Parts: sequence; structure tokens; C-alpha cells
Amino acid sequence: MPRRRKQFPCGHQGYGQVCHRCAQLAEAKALEAAQREQARLARQEWQASFASDVVELRGLPKGIVLKARQVIAQLLAGADYRQFKGKRLNHDRRVISIPLSYDYRLICYDTGDRIEPRSVLSHEEYNVKKPLA
Ligand SMILES: [Zn+2]
Repeated sequence: MPRRRKQFPCGHQGYGQVCHRCAQLAEAKALEAAQREQARLARQEWQASFASDVVELRGLPKGIVLKARQVIAQLLAGADYRQFKGKRLNHDRRVISIPLSYDYRLICYDTGDRIEPRSVLSHEEYNVKKPLA
């Protein structure tokens, strides 16, 4: 039996019970929506992740945020700051500057019995205002 093309209510022509062009479009749209939703959730999760940081990391480049978290976790676990090329500042030996990249420094404060991460500063911020821990 020859298959007959028919016109669907959408205006497209084709075979079968439903319009395949519209079905395909709907599928692509659904996929796009799912991807948008996934990206939205990922952004939301990323924003929420800052709440548990011991140092304010919002607004920093993602790579710096990840590096800072890694170094902070290791410091809090007892790692030596010198392991990360950290240096004590000359004007205040209690302040320790750890390079995270060429542009960013993690500033820590030596309370006497432990090293407390305090802030992440860009190279410019670091040079303009000497870090007050
Ligand atoms: Zn159609």
C-alpha cells in the first residue's frame, strides 16, 4: 500500500501520525532547555560554594578560586606555607603572602599557634595597600 503524504495541522507535510519536523524541533528545544537548566544549576552551585569558604573568594577568576581553596585546605590541614612558596612580609613578619598565580596572593596571618588564611589580593591591590591581616 503506497504511503500518502498528508498535511499536519502545523502546516508541514509528511508521513505518519505526527509531524516529524515539529517533533525534531521540539526535541532540540527540550535539549536546549535542559542544557540551559543544567548551566543555571551549575552557576547556582558555584555561587553557593562561596558560603563555605573561610576567605572571601567571590569575584575572583575561577582558576584562582580553585587554587586558593586547594592551598587553604592544605594549610588548615597543617601544611607548611613555605611548601607553597609563601613568604613573611618584611614590615610585619606575622603576615604571610603565598603566591596563587603571577597576579594573586593569598594573605595569611600567623597568630602564634596557627596560620590563618585572611584574604586573596590581586597584584595591584597587594602593592597599593600593604595587606592588613
Ligand atoms: Zn510540523
